[in-house]
Amino acid sequence: MDKGFLPRQQFPELYQALRKAGYEVIGPTVKDGAIVFSPLAGFEQLPLGWQEQVSPGRYQLEQTAGQRCFYWNTGPQALKPWLFKPEQHLWQAEQTTEGLCFRQTPEQAQPRAFIGLRGCDLAALKIHDQHFLNGLFPDPYYQTQRQQLFIIAVNCARSASTCFCVSTGDGPAATFGFDILLDELETGFLVASGSDQGEVIVQQLPLAKAKTKQLSEAKQQLQAATYQQRTMPDEQQLLKLVNRLDHPQWQDVAERCLACGNCTLVCPTCFCSKQESHSDVKGQQAEQVRLWDSCFSEQHSYIVGKVFRPEISQRYRQWLTHKLATWQQQFERSGCVGCGRCISWCPVGIDLVEEAQALLKDEVDDD
Ligand code: SF4
Ligand code: SF4
Repeated sequence: MDKGFLPRQQFPELYQALRKAGYEVIGPTVKDGAIVFSPLAGFEQLPLGWQEQVSPGRYQLEQTAGQRCFYWNTGPQALKPWLFKPEQHLWQAEQTTEGLCFRQTPEQAQPRAFIGLRGCDLAALKIHDQHFLNGLFPDPYYQTQRQQLFIIAVNCARSASTCFCVSTGDGPAATFGFDILLDELETGFLVASGSDQGEVIVQQLPLAKAKTKQLSEAKQQLQAATYQQRTMPDEQQLLKLVNRLDHPQWQDVAERCLACGNCTLVCPTCFCSKQESHSDVKGQQAEQVRLWDSCFSEQHSYIVGKVFRPEISQRYRQWLTHKLATWQQQFERSGCVGCGRCISWCPVGIDLVEEAQALLKDEVDDD
C-alpha cells in the first residue's frame, strides 16, 4: 500500500476535501469527560493533546501538551450507535376510515465520513455487517446507514492497559474495511487509500512522498502498541468455556457484578434488542420501536411466563460463553475484538480477560 505524507498544518485539507465531496464529517471530540464521536465543524474539534488513562472500572481523560489528535484508544462508543441505533422507530399503524394502515418508518441517511476508527472498530463493523446484512432478512435501517459510510481509519500508536486486540487478531493496525488509512506521526500523517472512493479524496491532498524515516517511525509505534498489550486466551482455548458451566468462578463474579449491562452497551459487537409497542390514548395510532437491550437484564430471558436466567451468575455466564465461545459457531470467530471497553466501563471493574483466564486456568496452564 503506497503511503504519502501530509504535513500536520495541511491536515485540515482532508476535512475540506470530505466536505466538498458531500460528506458530513463525524469524528472524535471531547464531551462530558470522554471521547465521543460527533459531527465536526472542523478538525480543530479533534481531541488534540488528549489522552485517556484506563484500567478496570476507570476511564479518565487528561490534556497533555502533545500535538497528536489520535493518541488515545477507545471512547465509550464508536460506530455502533450510528448504524444500530439505541432507539429505532420501526413502523406505525393508524386506524383510518379505510381500515388499519401500516407504514414502515422511513430511514434517512446522508453520506457520512467517520475519522479516527481503529482496527478493533472495523472488526466489530464486519461482525455487525454479518449479523445485520448477511441473513435472510437484511435489516433495512442498518443497511441505509451502512451504505452511506466513508471510513478513515487510524493505526494505533499506543495501546491502553485494557487493550488486547493483538490476541483477537484485530489490531493495533487497521488492515481492511477503510477508505483511507492514517498513521499519525509527530509532524503529520502517513496517508493511504483503501478504496476507489478513498483514492478520489487522497488525490486532492497535497501529499509528499513518504520518507523512509517516516515509514519506520510509523512501524515502530505500531510495534510499541503491540508490545504494550495484555494477552487473552486464544479462540481454541475459549471454546472450552462451554465445558466450564459449573465452575465456581461464575458465582464469584456474580457477587461483584451489578447486572447493570454497561459492558454490553459499550461493546461494539453486542446487538441484543427488544421491541416495544406504543399507542395513543384513543387507540387510533400505534408505533413499534426497537431499543438496545442487554443479556444482563432479567427480562431478556423471559419467555412465556418464565425467566430462564434469574441469577446474575447465569446471566454473566451467558454473556461470556456466548461472546467468547458459542459466538464462534455463529460467526466463525469470537465476538470479542479486544477493545477493552467492557473492562474500563464496568462500574465495579470486572475484567473479562481475568475472568476468562480464571475459568480456563487449568487449560491455559496445561497448554
Ligand atoms: S467483549 Fe469487551 S473487549 Fe471484547 S469487544 Fe466487547 S467491549 Fe470490547
Ligand atoms: S460485568 Fe460490570 S458492566 Fe457488566 S453487568 Fe456486571 S457490573 Fe455491569
